[in-house]
Amino acid sequence: MMTSDNSNTEDKNNDVDLSGLKRGEQIKCLNCHNGYYKPFSLPAEKCDWFKCDNCGDHVHFTPNIIVE
Ligand SMILES: [Zn+2]
Repeated sequence: MMTSDNSNTEDKNNDVDLSGLKRGEQIKCLNCHNGYYKPFSLPAEKCDWFKCDNCGDHVHFTPNIIVE
């Protein structure tokens, strides 16, 4: 039984929402398309660096910190 894949994933790197990483989602590496980004430190929601477990490509989030 096949499940239809109607997610609109497109093969483009410039408009990928990686913010799901901070919600603990598994997101495939944009570089090698084999590995997944893993947080440098846990919990993922407080981690700003994620590194591909296959090729070592990494992404960096600018922290959105509100300073009072
Ligand atoms: Zn990779």
